[in-house]
Amino acid sequence: MRVLRFVRLLWIHIVTGAVVARVLLAGGGQTPAPPVSDVEWPLHGLTDGEARFSPLDEINRQTVDGLGLAWVHEFGSRRGIEATPIVVDGRLFVTGPWSVVHCFDAVSGTPLWSWDPKVDKAVYGRRACCDVVNRGVNHSNGKLFVGVLDGRLAALDARTGKLLWETVTLDQTKNYTITGAPRIAKDKVIIGNGGAEYGVRGYVTAYEMETGKQAWRFYSVPGNPALGFESPAMAEAAKTWKGEWWEAGGGGTCWDSMAYDPELNLLYVGTGNGSPWNRRHRSPGGGDNLYLSSILAINPDTGRLVWHYQTTPGDTWDYTATQHMILADLSVDGIDRKVLMQAPKNGFFYVIDRESGELISAENYTSITWADGVDPNTGRPREIHGADYAEGRAEIKPGPEGGHNWQPMAFNPETGLVYFPVQEFHTAFRHDPDYRYDPATWNLGVQFVGGGVGSPPGSLVAWDPVQQKRVWSVPRSIVWNGGVLTTAGGLVFQGTGTGKLYAHDAKTGETLWEWFTGTAIIAPPMTYRIGGRQYVSVAAGWGGSYGLRRPPGGEAARYEQRGRLFTFVLGGKGAAPDYALRQPRVPTGPEIDLEYSREAVSAGARLYRKYCGACHQNGVLVPSLHYTSKETHQLWELIVYDGIYAAAKGMPAFKGMMSREEVRQIQAFVVEASRGMARRLEKK
Ligand code: CA
Repeated sequence: MRVLRFVRLLWIHIVTGAVVARVLLAGGGQTPAPPVSDVEWPLHGLTDGEARFSPLDEINRQTVDGLGLAWVHEFGSRRGIEATPIVVDGRLFVTGPWSVVHCFDAVSGTPLWSWDPKVDKAVYGRRACCDVVNRGVNHSNGKLFVGVLDGRLAALDARTGKLLWETVTLDQTKNYTITGAPRIAKDKVIIGNGGAEYGVRGYVTAYEMETGKQAWRFYSVPGNPALGFESPAMAEAAKTWKGEWWEAGGGGTCWDSMAYDPELNLLYVGTGNGSPWNRRHRSPGGGDNLYLSSILAINPDTGRLVWHYQTTPGDTWDYTATQHMILADLSVDGIDRKVLMQAPKNGFFYVIDRESGELISAENYTSITWADGVDPNTGRPREIHGADYAEGRAEIKPGPEGGHNWQPMAFNPETGLVYFPVQEFHTAFRHDPDYRYDPATWNLGVQFVGGGVGSPPGSLVAWDPVQQKRVWSVPRSIVWNGGVLTTAGGLVFQGTGTGKLYAHDAKTGETLWEWFTGTAIIAPPMTYRIGGRQYVSVAAGWGGSYGLRRPPGGEAARYEQRGRLFTFVLGGKGAAPDYALRQPRVPTGPEIDLEYSREAVSAGARLYRKYCGACHQNGVLVPSLHYTSKETHQLWELIVYDGIYAAAKGMPAFKGMMSREEVRQIQAFVVEASRGMARRLEKK
């Protein structure tokens, strides 16, 4: 009865997906090993419409108290994990750092196989702007699909992990990377890419699922008009750009979000920020710069653009629209609407008619300083004068990390609410008059002259998309937290940057259960049922754009950050693994025997900021250089210039980007800084 009720609910409220078929087909009597799951999580966002609402309700408001650990797997990795695990045929598939795919028995947690694409860490550790993360695999018809950091798309046999085919989806001489999960539309698998900070041109490509043969490619921004346009959409888009924008690629990369409506046969793709960020450098003289920061509706058979909606015309603040999109059917003003919902970085929550692309409504989900609303007639934001920092410093909220980033949302049709993590970042921008395009580094064209986080820094927000208002929120003590899951058990699950997994009442936000994972969580939880028992899984691995640069919060800050996969079940009695405490470290500068000039130190400081600081400054995921041992200092040039630690540790080679002398200047700066740190500690 209960199952039927939820099947009906799913049909009514959510764009239909594989979960419906799986529920209807449940109840077969076979028990192969591993056991067949009776309610799976077969797609990245659970269904094509990506609502991340599970019909399972064994774990509910009343029973969640009894949730305990079923099993845990230690990846041993140190970098960010952003993947949604998926479950098909009793197997759980998840990706770790460097696009490694892992397969487990979903009940026992026994590792069945893993596939390491062997990314060249010497190259791709540097190209990955925002950590060497991967958001997971997708599945269709016995095949698993994964986008690899170095630009490959691979198809694996889901039973064995054997490589069936792989294809290179991009020009590997350029600074592209893949971190997003591939999506499925009929017989095609679709993948985008990232790299806009380094200056690339965004696109998505569809491949035939069976063979890996390219079906079509849709560019999201126009190239050099002298070379001709690939599509009518590019000819249209080019009218909205000025200058020689193609020199820095233009950006608009499709690095994460997609959704698919099989009934309308439309694939939705979110596009990213411009290259460079500052539109006065990117497109001197203005223009909307289509299709940056947009939602694109594409016919998945042909790759033709059907409609677009641009959230931030002429984006100049890194306001990507690559954030999660949910397809749902809502009653708005008494009319049933097929909608698409998104809360992109720019601070507005959008409800869009997904047939036509027409804006239904948009309201800010957090306080913002760059616009004072969205015009309901034109669908355009009303940009505030001076927000473009053309006339000097501008305090911008949300900051470039966004009011909400890639962390997936969830929509519960029973409460009618969308749940998502909100971040209170603000950043002061100033025009950089000296900007020059340089593919070796980030291309922003702006200077940061202040910024920080608000109070509370983050929150889990329940949003009514019809009324466009916040219904409840739970404050978080750190700004960077995990994606969200909601269930028919009346629950919302979210992990945090303080290393907790929480279950909240979906109606009120009340905290009903929590569990400490030692490692901070940024990935979204998911759930499945096997043998009549409901499980909840989440991958813990601190990192991503913010996590790479800042330590985790709360209790998690006391512990070494190691990648782990946790699976919970009612009555689970598993013990938490031993979480290793972080050891206090001593600056090594005074014991390093090195002589250098003042000039070398100041040149080294500039180079350190340009090439090293992004990864090494917080010392949590990637070691702080101030504590580098004497032995390691003797290998300095071999490590930094030649890349001898690339394979083992992911430290890139800087050969070709810096001279040996520049590498030594960085060493001088690091030793000098470490000696300074030791002196300050001694004074205390
Ligand atoms: Ca960006």
